[in-house]
Amino acid sequence: MRGTFCFQQSVPSLATLAEITINMSDNQTYFSNLKCRECGRLYAKEAIHICEFDFGPLEADYDYARIAGCLNREVIASRPQSMWRYRELLPIDGEPTVGAQVGFTPLVRADRLARHLGVDELYIKNDTVNYPTLSFKDRVVSVALSRARELGFQVVACASTGNLANSVAANAAAAGLTSYVLIPANLEKSKIVASLVYGTQVIGIQGAYDQVNRLCSEIAGKYGWGFVNVNLRPYYAEGSKSMGFEIAEQLGWKIPRHTVVPMASGSLLTKIHKAYKEFIKVGVLEEAPFSVHGAQASGCSPISEAKKKNTDIVKPVSNPQTIVKSLAIGTPADGYYALRSMAQTGGSAEDCTDEEVLRGIRDLAEYAGIFAETAGGVTVACARKLIDSGKIPRHESIVLCITGHGLKTQEAIADHCGEPRVINPSLREFEALVANDSAVQTTA
Ligand SMILES: *Cc1c(COP(=O)(O)O)cnc(C)c1O
Ligand SMILES: [Zn+2]
Repeated sequence: MRGTFCFQQSVPSLATLAEITINMSDNQTYFSNLKCRECGRLYAKEAIHICEFDFGPLEADYDYARIAGCLNREVIASRPQSMWRYRELLPIDGEPTVGAQVGFTPLVRADRLARHLGVDELYIKNDTVNYPTLSFKDRVVSVALSRARELGFQVVACASTGNLANSVAANAAAAGLTSYVLIPANLEKSKIVASLVYGTQVIGIQGAYDQVNRLCSEIAGKYGWGFVNVNLRPYYAEGSKSMGFEIAEQLGWKIPRHTVVPMASGSLLTKIHKAYKEFIKVGVLEEAPFSVHGAQASGCSPISEAKKKNTDIVKPVSNPQTIVKSLAIGTPADGYYALRSMAQTGGSAEDCTDEEVLRGIRDLAEYAGIFAETAGGVTVACARKLIDSGKIPRHESIVLCITGHGLKTQEAIADHCGEPRVINPSLREFEALVANDSAVQTTA
């Protein structure tokens, strides 16, 4: 990939080669600092995540003027189809060394589902087929672990509701890093197996995600490991922007009028918003109105509750009760900023019951051919509510962010989509069985 970066497009004369080489290593990165989201103080690009003055979260900041000078649609389109085609807007210094093939998942137009929901123009951003662990978390882990290596970490770790654990385990294994993943002990069996298989250290905590996360903060301070969503969080979080960049590019360099995003900590929603704004800022996209909407499960919906009550105070949920474990974060770290993104874009939030989640999973499968995990059911069910209430007008373009594969949460849906009809290997039995099926009646 090295040869494709835009700062290398001009060919240096021999006389200036040495000088340019020095400038180039200097110029390797467009990622300039970490910056406090509250006070704007700048910090060095280290494994830190909180402002010392006001405890505001630190976020990656870039040299946008320089990026605007060289990044454009043609440059991006000429690059390999992965999330790293937007590399100037991702927070590492060198080449990605972990997850170089992550991203560029399909954006599919879903006309049958659109008709079912009563809308004109509907797309699915299908991260159920993200590489290598079938969820959007491969995006954040690719950035976090590439940065972890640049910062010299040998051991990486995370607190996870399941998908992050899978992705850290797999990507660390491929990169030869030692990994520890801490999860609530009651996670879905498939998600636990899909961490264990990589030889990672899986530690189940008797408690909810918030307790897992608190423990991880203590461990991170003590052991000096690279904690993907603690001390590496500014890097991790930026990876989510790639989903927004891809949506806009795949839609023909346009921002969808409405984007519906599932919320756990709220980070993905804020980063899709940031991605759209950055593409406008560097001149890749034209300015146009857009709204980002948030989706949660009713059994753990602190952000959508706050949004519906029109307050920016996110009230923690101490005992999440939902089949949607991947979104069950009672104290969402980015809840406040997710509310701000929705407010700034005229977006709304919804939440849905477990029963509605199962309906949503089946709708997506039956009308779009995509098998999503419970979080996908949340997105579809909440989108339906936003459409039916008029918050998303029926004739405007809509993208649903579908973030994880259904095979990861099979137990949630297993008893809710019927049973196979079992017969002996006999044509007579088959004919008796299907005699009343409509497919048979129309053939006869
Ligand atoms: C992590 C995750 C999200 C979003 O998480 P945020 O913390 O809000 O960024 C959405 N869907 C799935 C399946 C996830 O695993
Ligand atoms: Zn600050």
